[in-house]
Amino acid sequence: MSQFKDFRSDTVTLPTPKMRQAMADAEVGDDILGEDPTVQRLESVSARLLGKEAGLFVLSGTMGNQVAIQTLTERGDEILVGADSHIFNLEVGGLAALSGVQTRILTSQGGRFDPRDVRSAIRSKGIQAAVTRVLCLENTCDLNRGIPLPPEYFAEMGNIARERGLGVYLDGARIFNAATFFGAEPASLCKDVDAVMFCLTKGLAAPLGSVLVGTREFIDRARWIRQRIGGGMRQAGHIAAAALVALDTMRERLAEDHINAERLREGLASVHPQIVDMKQPLTNIVRIDFAPVAKTSASMVQRLFECGIKVKPVGETACRMVTHWGISANDVDESVAAIASILRQ
Ligand SMILES: *Cc1c(COP(=O)(O)O)cnc(C)c1O
Repeated sequence: MSQFKDFRSDTVTLPTPKMRQAMADAEVGDDILGEDPTVQRLESVSARLLGKEAGLFVLSGTMGNQVAIQTLTERGDEILVGADSHIFNLEVGGLAALSGVQTRILTSQGGRFDPRDVRSAIRSKGIQAAVTRVLCLENTCDLNRGIPLPPEYFAEMGNIARERGLGVYLDGARIFNAATFFGAEPASLCKDVDAVMFCLTKGLAAPLGSVLVGTREFIDRARWIRQRIGGGMRQAGHIAAAALVALDTMRERLAEDHINAERLREGLASVHPQIVDMKQPLTNIVRIDFAPVAKTSASMVQRLFECGIKVKPVGETACRMVTHWGISANDVDESVAAIASILRQ
């Protein structure tokens, strides 16, 4: 890795030596013909881990989300999505362009939808009404905050959806961070949702890929839709091999990222108590708002860059810092010291 301390995202990690070895040694075949044993192993391991029947290896989280929504909807359907969600904000309008669905936006408090808002957003059947088809959830929630949501929340959302005949889809890009936070089995967070996507590249350090899991029937249709958008792969076992190492060796250490994030947040709070929110449950993403110290995110990004520290601007005055495999406790301490020094000047 470079000499920079790179806090922009937990996606900047490079594959581990064990992953590189596994990629070289992988047993592979033509996966479109259903003949890649390593991809098949990744798909079944993933399904088991999240308590679902079957899995589908996809190139990215974005592809997983888009394939999932296309699988669960018909054109002209309406889906309920969070105002801050990745699927609504950062997927190039894919919901409209690829699935032809319209979105109904729900706002959240602390990452959660109000059950009353969800109920009232679901349309009744009628000659003039679009069909509300899917409720989209995220865990951890909000990619600039990383808020972990507990199983009870999903049970509550799942009940409303089942009552009204909606599907529930979970963008679980960082589901293992949420599981780590609660000390829970990942499957216990997915019990009340129909389908889930998780990323192998967020915190787990695999070079690429995500997995979509759900019922056998859902995955069969999702595989066909993945093929339509050019996501069918041939000897993908080379990548799946790294992904299997990621699931095997990198999940347990996420706790370390959470400890480092807490260390970072406490350090920043001691620099200035109002630049971080100490009340929010924390996984590996710390959001800093420099408004109370009258700095813009652009100026802080630049000054920190000059100190060898990369952070991501997420608004006029806000930045995010994400902890991951490439960030040590010492990196955290040096970065807090650098921010303190910039703010003193
Ligand atoms: C990163 C992310 C995605 C998309 O994953 P890519 O692999 O970057 O396409 C989707 N949802 C959430 C919540 C994410 O953080």
